[in-house]
Formats: sequence, structure tokens, C-alpha cells
Amino acid sequence: MSERLSGYRLDDKLIFEKSETGHTGYDIPAEEIPEFSLQDMFPEAYIRSRDAELPEVSEVDVVRHYTNLSKLNHSVDNGFYPLGSCTMKYNPKLNEAVAALEGFQQIHPYQPESSIQGALALMYELQEALKIVSGMDAVTLQPAAGAHGEYTGMRMIYAYHQDRRDFERKKVIVPDSAHGTNPASAAMCGYEIVEIPSTEDGRVNIAELKKALGPDIAAIMLTNPNTLGLFENEICEIAQMAHEAGALLYYDGANFNAIMGKVRPGDMGFDVMHFNVHKTFSTPHGMGGPGSGPVGVKAVLQPYLPVPVIEKHPENGVYWCNAKRPKSIGKVRAYFGNFNVLIRTMAYILSMGGEGLKMASEMAVLNANYLRVQIAEFLDVPHNEICMHEFVADGTRLKEWGIKTLDIAKGLLDYGIHPPTIYFPLIVHEAVMIEPTETETKDTLDRFVTVLKKLVDMAKRSPERLKEAPTTTPVRRLDETSATKNPVVRYHKKA
Ligand SMILES: *Cc1c(COP(=O)(O)O)cnc(C)c1O
Repeated sequence: MSERLSGYRLDDKLIFEKSETGHTGYDIPAEEIPEFSLQDMFPEAYIRSRDAELPEVSEVDVVRHYTNLSKLNHSVDNGFYPLGSCTMKYNPKLNEAVAALEGFQQIHPYQPESSIQGALALMYELQEALKIVSGMDAVTLQPAAGAHGEYTGMRMIYAYHQDRRDFERKKVIVPDSAHGTNPASAAMCGYEIVEIPSTEDGRVNIAELKKALGPDIAAIMLTNPNTLGLFENEICEIAQMAHEAGALLYYDGANFNAIMGKVRPGDMGFDVMHFNVHKTFSTPHGMGGPGSGPVGVKAVLQPYLPVPVIEKHPENGVYWCNAKRPKSIGKVRAYFGNFNVLIRTMAYILSMGGEGLKMASEMAVLNANYLRVQIAEFLDVPHNEICMHEFVADGTRLKEWGIKTLDIAKGLLDYGIHPPTIYFPLIVHEAVMIEPTETETKDTLDRFVTVLKKLVDMAKRSPERLKEAPTTTPVRRLDETSATKNPVVRYHKKA
């Protein structure tokens, strides 16, 4: 096992195994603990018959344990993370400081509205800001992530068609380059998926779209730029075709960081969209959370927004939650959504300002193109034209040396670089999807190109060595199938 990570070894003990009876981090003086009887407080059935097996460890051991564990992970804070589609950009520490303010942390969603006016104001103003950048007419902050936003949006589309007594629309069109959550969310709302192929140049195939559109189509789900990092030039025509056929147009906002401040989904003709604020607006995410996926809608869908909608009284300026909306799809999330993520989003938007957001998009696009041009010299880039915030390279030709994209990805780990997204989008077989984001320096980008080139050379010269990678990480190559099929997620105390 590697010893590089400052003292932590993988065979180090679990915190449960470090437990020693009587060790504590902090003692409350006995005289400060009031007398109490559990039996007086709870019904017998809910009282434990024996103590929970919690580890007994000193404070310094707890701190070291978790600090060392945290070093086993790669994160934006310790290295470059060009994970296409997922947008792992630097998260300003200012956002953290703002989110930690006592006034935000010490409140509860069940408090009376009059006592949480500041929190409601923040959410109301965030809704307004998201309306401005997206060109939508109304926004809900409730959904917990992008996929949850898609589900919420599709539920509203469903409610819209039902409300119009248009019951025949049972299908949703999704291009073959779409993120898997798109068809999954539509299917969760009861829709059948119609997949349309992309054109040679990686965009929506208008002829195929025309064929698929009809009185049975409820919506088209698109992202623009699409998952190849290419802008759909015909978007206005696509929107017109959709609307003429009675369908609505859904915008997957995961790639919004390529266009903010430049063009708006609302102006392109989209009726509903989600924001992945944890991607676009720099809130930390990964490993499944925490995220937030606000949804913006045009006026036609406004009646169906989930409750509560945060409103501001036009006369006295008081903020309040409107839960009495007869056509609402109901609640999609407890309380107000992931409020702590929303604070970070607002901090980012306010600290950047309109011009700053626009510049972030411009820098993201510039950085992606800077990498694309250099990487195309030694790795195929199937759609090698000016891209938006990301682009997709293809490692198929390395198969000649027995090397797959996966091997290149593993090789990057040995250089302290998180691999790009691989094998997505599905339409590029050995896909390497690279998104540098706007927050990286030219030096970092140059080093990435140098390392990637070195690995491609290694693939050709000594493929066996590359197949060994990674060699410097706490674990080498894992049995991912077993990890998925037989995960060990529960601690059993050894006898
Ligand atoms: C990340 C992503 C999603 C899903 O968003 P989550 O916030 O991860 O649920 C959907 N579409 C695309 C293109 C994405 O990159």
C-alpha cells in the first residue's frame, strides 16, 4: 500500500476499531447534567435495551482520522478536475463564509415567516436573478438537483397538457447525445421515450425531428450547447417546430456555464429549464450531493409550479410563501429545497455581477478551445470545430496498441489530475469529455496537455506500463462490478 498520503494507509483502522473504552473528546461535568428518566420521557418500546456502539476516541484522534480520510479523495481543492458535463469548477471560499453566517445557520424552516424575512428575501432575489439570466418568467428553488429539476419540469409539462385536456401526448423526444437523466426523468413521469439520432456534425437531426413530431409528443428535451459541447445553431427553428406541433421544449441547464450572459434559453424558445446551480454557480458537489436544481418556466407553465412559491407583497415588501395554488403539481421537496446551496449560489451571482458571469462563460469557452486545439494534435477530436465550454476527444485509435480510454484516465491519476468524463456521451465510443472550466490558469491547462500527451506516447511505446496505472494512489484499479453489485456499506464488529 502507498505510504505517500502523509501517514494514512488503507489498512489503517476504522474509527470503530480505534475505539477504547473511556476515551472521550469532551466531558460535560456531571453536575451540569440534569437528572432525567428516559422512562418518563418516551414509551418503553422506543428505549434502547443496550447502548449504541459508538466509537470512544479522543478529539485529536477524531480530527486526524477524518483529516487523513479526506486526503484519500481527489477534489477541486487539491488538483485539476476537468470532468466534462459535471463542471467541477473552483468554489470560492467567500461562498462558504456567507453560507456559514449565524443568521442563516441558526434558523429553522418552521419559524414564522415574519422571523425569517432575510432568508425569504435571499430566495426571492435569487429567483429574480435566475429569471434575468435565463429569460424565464418564474422560478422555483425547490428541486434538490438537476435530475430532480428535470422531473419537476416534466411533471409541469404533464400537468399543462392534462389541463388542456390534451390526453394523447404520451411521448417525449430525446436526442441520442442526451444525458441519461433526461429519458429517465421523462419515463418517471410516465412518458415513452422517442430517441432521435444526431447528424454527422453532432447536432439535432432536423429531418428526423420533423418525422418524430406529432400530436402524440408532449415535449422535446435538449441541452444547448449539447453534450458534445456544440451549440445547436438551428435552435430557433427547432423551437418553432416543437410549438407548431403542440409540444413544449425542455432545456437541460447543465451546460449553462457556456452561455450565461451571452444568450438565454428563454429567448431561444425554451418553455422550461433546470439550473444545476452546483455546477454553473460554483457550489461544491460530488459523490451525490449536496446540489440544487431550480427550475425556470415561461408564463404558460407558471400555474403548475410546485408549492410554496416565495412571493413579495407589492405594497409592504413583506416576503411570504404562497402555498395556495390550485393548479400546482404540489410539493417536490421538504421545506424550501437545499437552502444552504442556494445561499452559495446567491453569493456567487452577487460577487460576480452580470459582467462577471458573462466573463466566466467566455473564459470557460476560451479555455476549452485552448485545450481542444492542442489535444487534437495527438488525440482524435471527432467534431473538431470551435466548441463551447467542453469538447469530446476519442481514444478509439489507441486500441491498436491495446489501450482504452479507461487506461488513459487511470494514467492521469498518477499525475494528480482527475480524469475527464469518459464513455459519455455514448455516441462517441471511447469518449474523453474534457471541461477545464473558467477557473484554471494557463499553467494548469498547459501541464494537463503535457501529461495527456505523455500518456498517449506511453500508450504507443509501452502499453503494458500504462495498463498498470495508477501506481501512486491509495488504491489501484478496483473491481467496479463487485463494488456495484456487492457493496459493503455496513460495519460489522469483528468478534
Ligand atoms: C449533471 C447533468 C445532469 C443531472 O444533474 P444532477 O444535478 O447531477 O442531477 C443532467 N444533464 C446533464 C447534461 C448533466 O451534465
